Amino acid sequence: MKRLHGIQLPQRKHAEARKIETIPLPKLVRIPMLMHLGTPCTPIVTVGEQVCVGQKIGAPADQNAVPIHASVSGTVRAITEFTNVNGSKVPCVEIESDGLQTLYPGCKAPVLETREQFVQAVRESGCVGLGGAGFPTFRKLNEPQKISMLIVNGAECEPYLTGDSRQIIENSGDILGGIHLVMQFLNIKECKIGIESTRPAALKQLAYAVAAEENITVCPLPPVYPQGAEKVLIYHTSARIVPEDKMPADLGILVMNISTLAFLYQYSRTGIPLVERVVTVDGNAVKKPCNLRVPIGTPQHDLLKYADCNFDKVKKLLSGGPMMGITLYSDELPVLKQQNGLLALTRVSHSEPTACIRCGRCMNACPMRLMPMELSRAYHKKDAEMLRTLRLSLCMNCGCCTYVCPAKRPLAEENQLAKQFLKEVES
Ligand code: SF4
Ligand code: SF4
Repeated sequence: MKRLHGIQLPQRKHAEARKIETIPLPKLVRIPMLMHLGTPCTPIVTVGEQVCVGQKIGAPADQNAVPIHASVSGTVRAITEFTNVNGSKVPCVEIESDGLQTLYPGCKAPVLETREQFVQAVRESGCVGLGGAGFPTFRKLNEPQKISMLIVNGAECEPYLTGDSRQIIENSGDILGGIHLVMQFLNIKECKIGIESTRPAALKQLAYAVAAEENITVCPLPPVYPQGAEKVLIYHTSARIVPEDKMPADLGILVMNISTLAFLYQYSRTGIPLVERVVTVDGNAVKKPCNLRVPIGTPQHDLLKYADCNFDKVKKLLSGGPMMGITLYSDELPVLKQQNGLLALTRVSHSEPTACIRCGRCMNACPMRLMPMELSRAYHKKDAEMLRTLRLSLCMNCGCCTYVCPAKRPLAEENQLAKQFLKEVES
């Protein structure tokens, strides 16, 4: 099987050998009412109200959204406004912790006998894909197409990030439990787990965990970026190609992140919804790279402090990895459900782009076999027809083209703008 293109990146997995740690409870959490793809939730608590861990504080506004729960027990101090990275504003519930972490009495293991019950329970858990996209998990499980293969995404291809690897090493039983649940309720007969060949400890642990499983296989993957992108992962684990106008479900494939599966199993046993997550904290301003389990809504500052960050030297803060991470404008911003990393960096590159020298490196790096330099030209000419002909919709904004371009052209960023432009033209 031919390998898809992509790029080799320095791994910098400094926290890989560090066990997942729990940090001291934050004094105050700020929980935005939008941490999933879709519409924001409506706050259902009032200022001054006492809340418990796992209590619902945000109700979904439509049938595609998932609820939001309190991550600490304490008092609702305020309901404010939170500015999303795209500039939109959503309500935000602020809770002052009482330090007790009292569990909401309604948190009970759900009754799971049918697929409908399973899907509904996953929705109630507030689960979104923990790999970073924030897609509500119950919607993936509710696709009408018959699913014949579950592909588990254990590829953690961005530099620095190690939370999924630690989950494999420390919680492989929960991951397997989650796989069994999904296979049972969706009647899936085959499962493949993709993980880079450069993660020997995690690979060994997974191989051990699935040794007695006839229908579950571990697939070592080449260590290229973006190995964790859905279409790349599907191709390298199953040799199937998802056509431009199709979704994985159209091919009978369901892709799920490895930490999401571990959470689903834990929820099925305890009924405690998604109120915490594992975040890798790293970057050259951090003296103690680590993997931290933190309540949703914890200020980034608390994580950085725990990781012994040299705050004076920080020039850039990223939520996620260096390739697809989102710049944070303040270390007071809260940890969201979909945040898998926090990088504190001491340098920001400011190279001015120069003219394209037609070297073709961007094309060779693109895993989707697109022509980023031509896409760029079409975008600058505002040529919607050409953007469609060049299959802009296949671009997954992985950033490989930008990374390799010697002229420092912001190709991936332009593709994002081009998608926005096409949307406006087509609306
Ligand atoms: S950002 Fe888009 S065009 Fe650039 S390499 Fe990735 S998929 Fe290809
Ligand atoms: S890598 Fe940069 S310079 Fe080379 S062809 Fe692509 S856009 Fe042009």
